[in-house]
Amino acid sequence: MFPVMLQLAGQRCLVVGAGGVASRKIQGLLSENADVTVVAPDVVSGVAALADDGSLALERRTYIDGEAANYVLVFAATDDRGVNRRVFEDASEAGVWVNVADDPELCTFHLPAVIRRGPLHLALASAGSAPFAIRRLRRLLERWIGPEWGEWLEAAARFRDRVRDLGVPTIGREALFDAYFEETVDQETHNVRVLTAGEESVLLKNLGRDRSLAEEPAATGDPIGDAGPGMVSLVGAGPGNPGLLTVRGHRCLMAADAVVYDRLAAPALPCDLPREVELHSVGKSADRHPVPQDEINAMLIRLSREGKRVVRFKGGDPFVFGRGGEEAEALVEAGCPFEIIPGVTSGIAGPAWAGIPVTHRGEAVRVTLLTAHECEKDRAQIRWDLLAQDPASTLVAYMGMKALPGVVRELLGAGMDGETPAALVERGTTGAQRSIITTLGDLPDEAHRAAIKPPALIVIGPTVRHATTLDWFGRRPLAGRRILLVRGTDRGEILEDAGAEVVAVPLPLSPAARVVLETSSVTDVVVASPEEIEALDLVRGGVGWGPRVRVWCIGLESQERARNLGWNHVERLEDDGGSNELVEQLALVSLPSG
Ligand code: SAH
Repeated sequence: MFPVMLQLAGQRCLVVGAGGVASRKIQGLLSENADVTVVAPDVVSGVAALADDGSLALERRTYIDGEAANYVLVFAATDDRGVNRRVFEDASEAGVWVNVADDPELCTFHLPAVIRRGPLHLALASAGSAPFAIRRLRRLLERWIGPEWGEWLEAAARFRDRVRDLGVPTIGREALFDAYFEETVDQETHNVRVLTAGEESVLLKNLGRDRSLAEEPAATGDPIGDAGPGMVSLVGAGPGNPGLLTVRGHRCLMAADAVVYDRLAAPALPCDLPREVELHSVGKSADRHPVPQDEINAMLIRLSREGKRVVRFKGGDPFVFGRGGEEAEALVEAGCPFEIIPGVTSGIAGPAWAGIPVTHRGEAVRVTLLTAHECEKDRAQIRWDLLAQDPASTLVAYMGMKALPGVVRELLGAGMDGETPAALVERGTTGAQRSIITTLGDLPDEAHRAAIKPPALIVIGPTVRHATTLDWFGRRPLAGRRILLVRGTDRGEILEDAGAEVVAVPLPLSPAARVVLETSSVTDVVVASPEEIEALDLVRGGVGWGPRVRVWCIGLESQERARNLGWNHVERLEDDGGSNELVEQLALVSLPSG
């Protein structure tokens, strides 16, 4: 069997018979704009209607010997085997392709089952031997190949045109196409990504810089480099859990030329951020500003003037104690276009992860977001008296660990009840989250005892008491675990649902994945092959590799490879059966203390 795709537009096709089966063939032919003639004494109403509106030529009579020879493609679908056979013989003799429904012996071609996704056509066939199996297989594949594949193919076609228009020589083209494919199709999960025109430009631009494509005539005005005017997006990264980055923020990052990120935003960087994206760390921590604010502003302005799409990636929400306003003003002053993509602020998400609703009917009807440390500088800025006399509210203090004793003293001094429920949430929403539920009076001692460190939030108010019943996250079997694995399976989601913070890295490790990995230590590594182990061996012992990392190997081979490379705490994950088993096995071994 030799598969072909026929261009049937305007071609003369004959269908003998006009029952249900014939009707389906007719529909198929018409959708390809074929010139269709139907010959049949009895006609189902659907076909008659098509004849009435002129979509096809209908001849209400029996088949006349020899007429099949006048067409390029012939179908017979009558219930008279004699007629079918004559049609077959006439067509074969005349060298015309013929198909008799449900009679493989009377066919010179078969119709495949087709899955269509836009311009993508997948044809499945069994050489006529088991159409039932093909139909079921098609259903299976249809679920697997979603509509996005059509969009993906359309985008690929645009990319091909663009590469052609750029005049890239043939050798360079194949390298570009390889890169495009690699960038848009996840070879493990078979998920596809449709690149925006902007993302395409980035890809082309970066490949243009690549020496292996040096043959490309880059001198001619460099159309690739012209990606439009610069733009700065101030993007909120959320509180640290990568799943709490917004969809829009994610899209912005994936299309960026440069990302300027803070320390608290780093854990939410997508590990599959394209390798070519410039990464600039301007990490601010508690009271250290490694890159002064005016230098950050200057950097944003410079990158934007270079015509780049810049993401200024900030922890939580950019406008909540994030200096987003200051940066935006600097951009306005410099005439640089910008946008704000809000984020989930830690002051709401952190408490939520600890089971504390910041408002609650009848208990807290107001929320105050406060920066404790700014207030230390200028005490007059905070009306402690008002805060202390406002029992139906929640007070959330950011940047407060150093100022904690002072905050408590001020509130108690201004008359707040020492028994008011109060909490601390450290590294909320991440695998390293810890929380303390106590009272205002006991807060400083408890914080000291547990050695709570920034980033942490102080939460004071009546709703804190709900944490004992609403502590949904702490009850997850893998809460407190930060697990490194290679992306491409659904293991990451399973572990995440079980409460773990998952760092799912691409191989080879991307620069973004390294940044994410180093933001805090992993407690576990799940590896499924010797290749994964070899790739991850590069980061073993690095900053993100906790001292007692437990390594979970799927398969004997992986386990041996890990041991040979000298990895410690290597465990075998029994059969990668269901999600429950995976979680159960990991949960059985509690966190190494210390
Ligand atoms: N723009 C950020 C706040 C930046 S100020 C936001 O909207 O969340 C930095 C302070 O945020 C830290 O000192 C800490 O108080 C708080 N913070 C940020 N992430 C946190 C987290 N995951 N858990 C607890 N506190 C966090």
